[in-house]
Amino acid sequence: MMEGPIAEVNLSKIDLDWNGAIAFLDRDGVLNFGSPNYINSPEELEIIPGAKEAIIALRDMGYRIAITTNQSAIMRGLWGEDTIHSIHAKLQNEIGLLDVLVTCPHRNRDRCRCRKPHPGMLNKASEIIRGKYHQTLDWWGEKPEPIHPLDLMVGDRNSDMGAGWAVGARLFKVDEKTGIAEVIDRIIRDDVGDDFNPVG
Ligand SMILES: [Zn+2]
Repeated sequence: MMEGPIAEVNLSKIDLDWNGAIAFLDRDGVLNFGSPNYINSPEELEIIPGAKEAIIALRDMGYRIAITTNQSAIMRGLWGEDTIHSIHAKLQNEIGLLDVLVTCPHRNRDRCRCRKPHPGMLNKASEIIRGKYHQTLDWWGEKPEPIHPLDLMVGDRNSDMGAGWAVGARLFKVDEKTGIAEVIDRIIRDDVGDDFNPVG
C-alpha cells in the first residue's frame, strides 16, 4: 500500500525561509462540486461559482495555497494516481495554478496519518512550502499555535475542521453548494474563524 499522501508541487523554487501564511483548502465542496460517488475524471469536475475569484483574492493577500483532499477511491482500486493528476490539471486550468496539492489515497481501515481529520496532508504541505510543520498532535489538549497567525483551513466537513484545528489554523466551514465564495469576505477581513472542538 502507498505509505504517505501524494503531493503535487508547483512552486518553482522551494524557499524554506518563506514565513507567510498558508490557505489550506479542501477540494470537493470548496472549489468544485463534490459527488457521493467521487469525482472520477476531469469531465466530472465542475467549479463552484466564485471559487476562481476567491483563489485570486487569496493570492493577492499573499497566501500560498495548499489543497488537501481525501480520495479513498484510489485505495479502493477505482482509479490511480494518473487520474488524480489529470483532474488536478483541469482544476488548475480553470482556477489558476495552486502551490501544492496533497491527496490522501487511503481508506479509514488503512489507518494512515494523512486522511482527514488527521493533519498529515496539512503538515506535508507546510513542510514543502516553508520547511516547518506541527510534529505533535493532542486532540484533547488546547488548540495549538499556528505556524503563521493567518493560516486558515476551508472545508465543508468536520474532518476538515479537525485537520485545520490540529495545525492551529483559523477554521472556515462552508456549505458544499457554495464553497469558498461563502467565506472569502470573512477571510479578507482577517476574521478569527469558527469555533471547533475536535472531541466535542
Ligand atoms: Zn492517508
